[in-house]
Amino acid sequence: RAKANGKNQACFFDATMTRELVRRREIEAELRLALQRDELSIFFQPIVDLETGRIRTFEALVRWFHPEKGELKPDEFIPVAEESGVIVALGNWITAQAARAAAQWPADVTLAVNLSPLQIKAPGAAVGILKALKEAQLDPARLELEVTESLFLEDSPVVRSFVEVLSKVGVQFALDDFGTGYSSLAYIHNWPFSKIKVDRSFVSGPHVGRKSDAIIRAVSQMAATLDMTIVAEGLETIEQVQAVRDAGCTLGQGFYFSRAVPDYLAAMLLAQEHHTHIKTQTG
Ligand code: C2E
Ligand code: MG
Ligand code: MG
Ligand code: MG
Repeated sequence: RAKANGKNQACFFDATMTRELVRRREIEAELRLALQRDELSIFFQPIVDLETGRIRTFEALVRWFHPEKGELKPDEFIPVAEESGVIVALGNWITAQAARAAAQWPADVTLAVNLSPLQIKAPGAAVGILKALKEAQLDPARLELEVTESLFLEDSPVVRSFVEVLSKVGVQFALDDFGTGYSSLAYIHNWPFSKIKVDRSFVSGPHVGRKSDAIIRAVSQMAATLDMTIVAEGLETIEQVQAVRDAGCTLGQGFYFSRAVPDYLAAMLLAQEHHTHIKTQTG
C-alpha cells in the first residue's frame, strides 16, 4: 500500500521500518547482557483496599536502567524479549527476584507478577515458577499471576496444564487489562480467575463518563456474584477513586496511591502502615 502512494512515501516507510528493526535488534542483544550487568530491577506498586486504604498486594513491574539509553519502558522491551525468546530467562529472573522480596512482607500481603503468553507456553514454565517460590520460601497462595486475554485466543493444552498445575498448589490468577482486548466472557467462565483488573482506559482518558462507569458497575456486579475481586487500574485522582468505589470496585491501583517503588520502599510503606495501624488501635 505504501508504494501506491508514491515513491517517496515508500522510501520513508522503509527507512522507518529499518530504524525500528535496528533498534529492536539492539535492544534484543543488550537485553541478554542487561541481566548479567545488573541493569534490571523489579519495582513494586501497591494495590489497595478501597474501603480501608490498606495495601493488599504489590504488583511487580520490571525496570531497565540502561547506561546510555536511560530508563527503558517495559512496553518497549517486553515485546522484543517475547519475539526473541529472552522472555523465558527474563521472566524466571523476575519471578525469583519478586518472590524473594515478597517473602519479607507480612503474610497477608500478596505478590502479583505479570506473565506474557510466550513465557507460559515455554517448556518448564510452571516448574520455573514453583522453583522460584520454593527458593524464596514463599507460600504459593501468596502469588497471583497476571495474564491478559490474548493468552486464551487459542485454547492450548499447554496453557491449560500450566494453569492447572499452579492452581492446584494455591497460586491465584488475575485477568489483566480487562476491557482492552476481546473481553469474551468465556474466558472468565472457563478459567479460574480470582481477580479481574479493569483497564485504566475505563478510569481516565477521553472516553470516560457515564458509559465507562456503567461498564465498571456491571463488571463489579458480575465479579461479586462469581466470587471474584475487581481491581481498578490507573487511579490518579481522588475523584477517580471515589467513582470506582461507588461503582463497586473493592481494590484499586494507581499513581494516586503510589507509583511502583523499589523493594526497600515497598517494605517501608508496609512498615509505616503497620505503625499507623497500631497507633489507631491503642490511641
Ligand atoms: P500492566 O501489567 O497493566 O501494569 C500496569 C502499568 O500501568 C504499569 O506500567 C504501571 O506503572 C502503570 N500505571 C500504574 N498506575 C498508573 C496510573 O495511575 N497512571 C498511569 N498512567 N499508569 C499507571 P509499566 O510498569 O510501564 O508496565 C507496562 C506493562 O508492561 C505492564 O502493564 C505489563 O503488561 C508489562 N510488564 C511490566 N512488568 C512486566 C514483567 O515483569 N513481566 C511481563 N511479562 N510484563 C511486564
Ligand atoms: Mg499487570
Ligand atoms: Mg494492567
Ligand atoms: Mg498493561
